[in-house]
Amino acid sequence: MTRRVSSKLRAVVVGGSLGGLLAGNMLERIGCDVTVHERVAETLAERGAGIATHPELHRGFERIGIPIDAGFGVAIEERLMLGRDGQVLARFHKKQLQATWGHLYRLLYRAFPRERYFAGSTFVRAEAEGKGVCVYFADGSSIDADLLIGADGIRSSVRAQFWPDAVPRYAGYVAWRGVVDEARFSLESHSTLFTRFVVCLPPGEHMVGYPVAALDGDLTPGKRRFNFVWYRPADDEKLRRMMTDATGRYHAMGIPPFLIAPEHREEMRRAGRDTLAPPYAEVAERVQEPFFQTILDLELPTIVKGRVVLVGDGAFIARPHPGMGVIKAVGDAVALADAIDANPNSLDAALAAYNDARCGYGRFLVSCARDLGTQIDTGRRSNAEIQRGEYFRRPENVIRAISMPPDESPLPDYGKAAV
Ligand SMILES: Cc1cc2nc3c(=O)[nH]c(=O)nc-3n(C[C@H](O)[C@H](O)[C@H](O)COP(=O)(O)OP(=O)(O)OC[C@H]3O[C@@H](n4cnc5c(N)ncnc54)[C@H](O)[C@@H]3O)c2cc1C
Repeated sequence: MTRRVSSKLRAVVVGGSLGGLLAGNMLERIGCDVTVHERVAETLAERGAGIATHPELHRGFERIGIPIDAGFGVAIEERLMLGRDGQVLARFHKKQLQATWGHLYRLLYRAFPRERYFAGSTFVRAEAEGKGVCVYFADGSSIDADLLIGADGIRSSVRAQFWPDAVPRYAGYVAWRGVVDEARFSLESHSTLFTRFVVCLPPGEHMVGYPVAALDGDLTPGKRRFNFVWYRPADDEKLRRMMTDATGRYHAMGIPPFLIAPEHREEMRRAGRDTLAPPYAEVAERVQEPFFQTILDLELPTIVKGRVVLVGDGAFIARPHPGMGVIKAVGDAVALADAIDANPNSLDAALAAYNDARCGYGRFLVSCARDLGTQIDTGRRSNAEIQRGEYFRRPENVIRAISMPPDESPLPDYGKAAV
């Protein structure tokens, strides 16, 4: 990328997670004057679990100057679908590098100028000012900028101010997540799970998992971990109970893992013993601190308002089934940098180009991910959704559709059907 007139552009990025660091790094590479502001004061590197990667992510990292080498993640070559008794119901040859959230974060953080990343810096509001924007933070400071980039995730405060009507909608199910150390598995389960992408479909539910590196990035066999996501229906009342801690306090914005009441974890483990293939029942039994996230949908009519733009999960919320959250954040960052670089004399034209480039794709992804989510029995699916869900639950289909860019899926009518 070149350094041109855009070098005068001052951008403030709110959110210093993957989406914010991707946007910050991409804009910095085209010569913008960028600062990234993250609410959390401590390092984020230990957050999150596994991230399934796709070639678009590799290209984005390489463009920033981060090479994709052997240490990037666990190389998987095969996907398996397991029945309740552990029998293999389908196999699919698919090469994929499984990284960890923490590793991607560390790489992006190191690539960004340290003095331009502000941890413990909380956005409170912004005001349009002439052709620019004035951004205010909780410590009383403010910054004048040409551009405000909301990379502040699913519960974005930037979106709440500038798109007040956009409210994420609960999809009727949650995703339990967690990791189990490789050394904790029985030999039998270990031989099935390492090193494969494994799917299991308990009635009305869906579970996927794959091996990832140790917390410190170590890929040595014996030190790795197994990362899982288990989608389970929870009606509004059950969700409310799950989001209420042992003292009776309700956590509307998400309950921290250590506050989840033990009875919910016990119920999850019991369901594992009753419904999962043996290696996965072992995963549910041995995971140390499982946590859950609520599954949400959100579409926006536009992701640009004046000099304010949204990227990553702040912009569109797609359910995690295609494994595209980080990839979309990469695509958003690349599109924003390209649009600014291609329109050095007009930021308005650049932002219009960014909006055009990414809104259609965001909607497409939300729609495809919702389509894949029809396999979860939320008790409120239409007949058409039940049929669609059955299609995706066929063993040979499910292992081809999930954790795959919808536009590259080998299923003939997936992706195209959602357009
Ligand atoms: C355990 C786990 C596994 C995942 N697996 C996958 C996967 O396999 N594949 C995939 O593609 N995606 C996966 N994702 C999702 C993926 O991480 C996100 O979709 C992607 O990183 C884009 O997120 P983001 O940076 O836009 O938002 P977030 O990661 O939510 O970051 C938003 C940041 O903004 C900060 N913030 C919020 N409000 C403010 C404020 N007022 N001021 C300043 N800062 C603020 C937050 O503290 C946070 O750090 C996973 C997520 C998790 C948690």
